[in-house]
Amino acid sequence: MITEKTVCVTGASGFIAAHVVKQLLEKGYKVKGTVRSLKDRSKYLYLDNLHGAGENLELVEADLLKEGSFDEAVKNCEYVVHTASPYIIDVKDSQKDLVDPAVKGTLNVLRSCSNVASIKRVILTSSFAAITDDPANDKVFSEEDWNEKSNLNRNPYYYSKKMAEKAGWDFINEQNTSFDLVTINPGMVIGPSLGSALNSSNKILIDMMTGGFPGIINLNWGFVDVRDVAAAHILAMENPSAKGRYLCANESLTMKDVIDYLNKGVYSHYKLPIIDLTSWFGNKLIYLFSYFQKIGTGSYLRSHIGRTIRFNNSKIKKDLGIKFISFEESIKETIPDLIYWGHLEKMSKPL
Ligand code: NDP
Repeated sequence: MITEKTVCVTGASGFIAAHVVKQLLEKGYKVKGTVRSLKDRSKYLYLDNLHGAGENLELVEADLLKEGSFDEAVKNCEYVVHTASPYIIDVKDSQKDLVDPAVKGTLNVLRSCSNVASIKRVILTSSFAAITDDPANDKVFSEEDWNEKSNLNRNPYYYSKKMAEKAGWDFINEQNTSFDLVTINPGMVIGPSLGSALNSSNKILIDMMTGGFPGIINLNWGFVDVRDVAAAHILAMENPSAKGRYLCANESLTMKDVIDYLNKGVYSHYKLPIIDLTSWFGNKLIYLFSYFQKIGTGSYLRSHIGRTIRFNNSKIKKDLGIKFISFEESIKETIPDLIYWGHLEKMSKPL
């Protein structure tokens, strides 16, 4: 499909956003991507080198915390994909470092959009974090659920995502905007990265392979491949009947599943955790250990250890026709990519 439509993608340099930009360019859209600073343009060569970028990609400076900062970026656009938000688990000041940029940034983007008559829809990258930080073994989560427990001291990153999404819906409901809002709520996003930066979700795999965990602990995640997350944003944008929130996660896997997978394959000689801490006693030990961690990691461990995340992803499959890439396919490409970018040492298997 060739189109002359223009899409603004905020935080275009990010792990997920760069894939959104790539897929939009491949579909023939014109893209205005925002980055914090254009002083060192060479930092964004991976975007400039994308197929179609020469004619169809424009980079514009914008900062989540500066009012009016997105006015230029959203001008003449038909759609806005707002992905920019800090994804950091441990910060010094939860309000200043997470909640302010997430919430004020979302409102700044939406206010800028309100002045542009051509905008039809804003697609906000929310998170499974806005759905819950309190998985209960017997509950299946869906788009109906809202995170009620996070606060500045309990899973502050989760709190920032819940507050940003809520601010987005409140804005749309109160301001009578000419555009609508759709949110994509991804789980744990892994996959190959277009740029050299290491994002927080792929880092978990590195931690698992470099001795970053004391043992195999009783955690699980709803994994999803970054290319599916990017595609979901674009399908939500293109499909006029897309509506509301879309939980975007494929399969729930435990850390033990991931370690078993890595042990079976060519990565068994990496520093994978050995001690099995998935028992009742292991859970108690990790609970204690969590009090020696920073607020973000500590509260995450206390709220997630020993709990199974279950979710219903039928809405995104039905409405947007997403067919998810499997975890195995995804990780097969993710780990060589982490080695390629130098985040993970290349280690040959001893003979
Ligand atoms: P990245 O860290 O790769 O991307 C975050 C982007 O936000 C970067 O482009 C960053 O710019 C930008 N950003 C952060 N703070 C500001 C600011 N003050 N002003 C302007 N831009 C800013 O993370 P991901 O790609 O993984 O995450 C993208 C979105 O997806 C986020 O909203 C995140 O919450 C959400 N998400 C991610 C998941 C995951 O597992 N990865 C899961 C669920 C949701 P810069 O490069 O300059 O720092």
